[in-house]
Amino acid sequence: MSETIATLPPIALWQKFYRLTRIPRPSCHERRVREYLTAFGQDLGLETLIDDAGNVLIRKPAVPGYEQRAPLILQGHMDMVPQANADSTHDFAKDPITTRIDGDWVTAERTTLGADNGIGVAAMLAILGANDLQHGPLEVLFTSNEEIGMHGAFGLKPGVLSGKMLINTDMEEEGELCIGCAGGANVNSRLMYREEPVAADWVSYRLCITGLRGGHSGVDIHRGRGNAVALLFRLLKHLQSDFAVRIKSLDAGNLRNAIPREAFCLVAVEPPCAPALTASVKHWQSIFSAELKQTEPQLQIALEAVDLGTDGWIDLSNAQRLVHAICACPSGVIRMSDEIPGLVESSNNLAIVRSAEGEIHIHNLVRSSIDSARDDLCGRLASLFTLAGAETWFDGQYPGWLPDLSASLLEHVRQAYRELFGVEAKISAVHAGLECGILGAAYPGVEMISFGPTIRNPHSPDERVEIKSVARFWDLLVNVLARV
Ligand SMILES: [Zn+2]
Repeated sequence: MSETIATLPPIALWQKFYRLTRIPRPSCHERRVREYLTAFGQDLGLETLIDDAGNVLIRKPAVPGYEQRAPLILQGHMDMVPQANADSTHDFAKDPITTRIDGDWVTAERTTLGADNGIGVAAMLAILGANDLQHGPLEVLFTSNEEIGMHGAFGLKPGVLSGKMLINTDMEEEGELCIGCAGGANVNSRLMYREEPVAADWVSYRLCITGLRGGHSGVDIHRGRGNAVALLFRLLKHLQSDFAVRIKSLDAGNLRNAIPREAFCLVAVEPPCAPALTASVKHWQSIFSAELKQTEPQLQIALEAVDLGTDGWIDLSNAQRLVHAICACPSGVIRMSDEIPGLVESSNNLAIVRSAEGEIHIHNLVRSSIDSARDDLCGRLASLFTLAGAETWFDGQYPGWLPDLSASLLEHVRQAYRELFGVEAKISAVHAGLECGILGAAYPGVEMISFGPTIRNPHSPDERVEIKSVARFWDLLVNVLARV
């Protein structure tokens, strides 16, 4: 069944993609695909380089008549996400991907397909191998380990590429031209506390907020979903002021790049307050549920009586400072883009609050397409947590890619799209990290654009690519090569 995809049009592209599906290439296990790409360039007699980060660069000279053009960079990542259904025996270390044509789509047998970014890589190989296309000098860059942290893009040294325009092929919606992405930074804070006892007759509970939808902390941040950490602390603030509730332990949120779906905490009150505490939690559940009626229909707040002992409670002063700080912490969308309608410019994901052994750790993930706005927001969080008596540090900073609607590359691609398909392409940007942001930092001033075929459910065994969108992607790419 697999080989039939090699007969789909455009045949040069699908043959290369079929070849790629035979080569295991999960992130961090790229040796074989790197060897294949290198041999591909060398067999064509083209200049082929491998850098220290494992990226492969193949240079193809201009065809006659196009020698005066500036070099154009084509870029895609060589690795893929290895995901299989539980009932699959697929071994990503050695087995080829079994592909299948399913109506208008190509998909894989119970595994990821690797169309992300395999179709783009196949198109780049087809261009390298073609002798019937028109183009100036090409620099074709296959980056390594994109899916697990964009290591190849981070590792690419300045001065290697000479082109001033770059086409990235790693997009998942045909008809969309991506011209920007967000950068990010981790903001980490640590608040120290003393452990104090409560009286032996205090009543203790486990407080649980569950049932939220979560989502990607970048691309879903504008959807108005509840943040379990923010809701927990909003509730704790009322419980502190109304019942002088004490806190023992916090376990709220679990991944920095996911909107928190669940938050747990241990609390205690004096016995006379217990009935009112239960009523208050119910009251706040109904308020939160009403506010988030559309986005969070499954929101649940539970208060379970548990015996927690008298020792090890967070001292009152630090518990109050923590609650005030988290309640004041900006979370969600901070600003929308002035240039791209509907695009989030800056956001913060209040991601994790955890306590253990005298320390409370707070983790935020800030994103922005504007690096100075990212740094400003990081600084505001640092100021806030400093006021609360916590120590704050940043790590994992990476740059954004600022949309430039006046770029000449964008105009070339829009015109090509209009002429080929008779409609306007949609201009978009994403509120998440892309390789273009990283590459743009090492190559300032290089105009960049990203487009690709339509891929559904990437990174999952349901991944599929629309056959006719691959042909349109190819037609657009070839047309753009001839005109820039
Ligand atoms: Zn990708």
